Amino acid sequence: MKVVGLIVALALLCPAAAFAEDILIVVRPAQVLQGGVAEVVISGAPMADLKARRGADDIPVFQTEPSAYAALVGIDMDEKPGKVEIAVSGRTPEQAWSRTAAINVTRKDFPREEISVPPAFDQLDAATLERIKREQALLKALWKVRSPTRLWQEPFAAPVPVKVNSAFGFRRVVNGLARAPHEGVDLKAALGAPVAAANDGRVVLEENLFFSGNSLVLDHGGGLYTMYFHLSEFRVPTGASVRKGDVIGLAGMTGRVTGPHLHWGARLNGARIDPLDLLALQESSRNSQ
Ligand SMILES: [Zn+2]
Repeated sequence: MKVVGLIVALALLCPAAAFAEDILIVVRPAQVLQGGVAEVVISGAPMADLKARRGADDIPVFQTEPSAYAALVGIDMDEKPGKVEIAVSGRTPEQAWSRTAAINVTRKDFPREEISVPPAFDQLDAATLERIKREQALLKALWKVRSPTRLWQEPFAAPVPVKVNSAFGFRRVVNGLARAPHEGVDLKAALGAPVAAANDGRVVLEENLFFSGNSLVLDHGGGLYTMYFHLSEFRVPTGASVRKGDVIGLAGMTGRVTGPHLHWGARLNGARIDPLDLLALQESSRNSQ
């Protein structure tokens, strides 16, 4: 009898929005550019066991309001234009449900530049190539780690004022050969300028790497990372928890660069995304917890 009473009480508490057909799933924005971020917003009822999945890849879902939830999906800069399907499932007090949300990915025309240099100018020796390989493997392993707890609540803020030196996705063709695309955005920053954490998180990497020099990576939880490269100094130890706005390092010109600046990068669910897109997040920046 007690169980029956509980079910009646739940039905009274959420009279209209507890059934699968009342669940609303909205993808924002309607068109997502390559290198962008999509928000899958699920609302209509308090829910349990919410899951979002792209293929075998789990995408964390966070509560944003008492009856609303959001999943952030990173769209890699090289994602094929077209539909990306996200399988969403959950349970209302009455029943389990599952749906498919479609993200429309559109092509972005990344800036491109062709240059010619003497062939010997940018050749790397075997030891350096070995080092680069090791460092790339280190970062790749890091993106695979998806800390389940989201560590941030407030909107993201740029680590230094947004004055773009070199855009995200910039493609350079050297002597007719395409180079790796620019996986972040270069922001103007004088030598020694303070670099702030873009949001709450944890320092998971502080290393001197061949290309990116003194490199710091923050884990914001839920598969979201931001990177701060070419620093002259680190100002927080590895493993430290930082708050949005904390000075985590000083801008510099370490690594393969020609002048001081801050390379700011971001990864979301393994995808290379434009960090400037994090500044525009709406739904996901509200958190009822
Ligand atoms: Zn850069």
